[in-house]
Amino acid sequence: MNEHDSERIAGLLRADNYTETDIPKEADLIILNTCSIRQKAEQKVFSMIGRLKKLKHTRPDLKIMLAGCIAQHRGKSIFRRAPSIDYVVGPQNINKIPDIIKNGAGQLLIADNLDLKLLNLPAVRKDSFRAWVNIIYGCNNFCSYCIVPYTRGREVSRPSDDIVNEVAGLVSDGYKEITLLGQNVNSYSDSMSFAGLLKELDKIKGIQRLRFMTSHPKDISDELIFAVRDLGSLCEHIHLPLQSGSTRILNLMNRKYTRDDYMKKIEMIKNTIPGVSITTDIIVGFPGESDQDHKMTIQTIKDIGYDGMYAFKYSPREGTKAATLDDQVDEAIKEDRLDELLVCQDLITENINRRLEGSILEVLVESTDTISGGFMTGRTRNNKIVTIAADQKLEVGSFVDIEITEGYRHNLKGKPAIR
Ligand code: SAH
Ligand code: SF4
Repeated sequence: MNEHDSERIAGLLRADNYTETDIPKEADLIILNTCSIRQKAEQKVFSMIGRLKKLKHTRPDLKIMLAGCIAQHRGKSIFRRAPSIDYVVGPQNINKIPDIIKNGAGQLLIADNLDLKLLNLPAVRKDSFRAWVNIIYGCNNFCSYCIVPYTRGREVSRPSDDIVNEVAGLVSDGYKEITLLGQNVNSYSDSMSFAGLLKELDKIKGIQRLRFMTSHPKDISDELIFAVRDLGSLCEHIHLPLQSGSTRILNLMNRKYTRDDYMKKIEMIKNTIPGVSITTDIIVGFPGESDQDHKMTIQTIKDIGYDGMYAFKYSPREGTKAATLDDQVDEAIKEDRLDELLVCQDLITENINRRLEGSILEVLVESTDTISGGFMTGRTRNNKIVTIAADQKLEVGSFVDIEITEGYRHNLKGKPAIR
């Protein structure tokens, strides 16, 4: 979400005749578009600001903007903490960035409500073959550990016509893979449901791969699961963050589902969509998480057999309910639980990936950079990274059938298939 916001900020500024540079020394304006999901991201930004301060000493006319969720969360206090910052702009107001720059320094814009003019901003996209498209902004869920509802405000769905037009434009520009973005895509509601929107998008002539991120387990519907099975462009991959395998902790997290509810959804997904891959997010060390709770998480990931997992140590975020809970877990215990989880998941992924050896899968080529002995890389429909050994260079953004020769923990290896 944050990276796509950066693409849109770049799009806006390019439309206003600014040019981009990768060299900080050359820039007249540096924008740090920040994430505040965990403490570490915030620390990194402030140490970067420290480095930029030195640059500002040699270039006093340089302007620095802090944008994104840290801007929204910390607001005016940023000017005190980091006097080298000239502008502070939250994610609900990025459409006003060109105006703010023209109006001079000392500017703070952190309105809570989404500026509706922001719904259809231009974007300068990082890739020429895959693109992100926002469908819903904000979040109403208030999971007790999460800062997002405070930094990105309440849910606002983008009009379906605008989404269909943007995706159709991307497809006709040659984009091969479109990922629809939202904190909870299942809450999408305009004149149609999320599954209804997917049906409309699937009708676009020439559309090849459609993905979405993220589904909240409490809201994933049978209609959506059938849509993934039935719509040709929709890729067979579902990211369904579990967070914890203990119903007691899920309750404290305010996730609004139990372990059993979640298992039923997984069963339905596996029984309905052939070849589906399922990935998840887990938080270890949520306040009050006992050894027993942690064991239930480990058992649950074994029972489910995820294709992949993102695991995080719980990071207290000021202003959220969980940060005020008494029984915060020791850092060392969080570390141990994270290690145990990662080792366990690696084995599961390796086993699943090994079973793919010998199969032929459609791969979208993402990089052909073989400098320093590297491999070309691509991605399967079910979102597995494939490194490709090939005699001739394949074209970035093209589809190739790849015979999988080896399955590893973090990727598959293969070669172009001879049919
Ligand atoms: N809207 C998405 C998640 C967005 S944040 C969803 O509900 O699935 C991405 C992931 O960051 C979350 O799934 C969660 O696992 C993790 N996360 C969020 N807040 C966190 C915190 N305070 N500490 C550690 N991990 C956190
Ligand atoms: Fe955060 Fe929960 Fe909203 Fe996801 S659904 S963004 S975890 S509050």
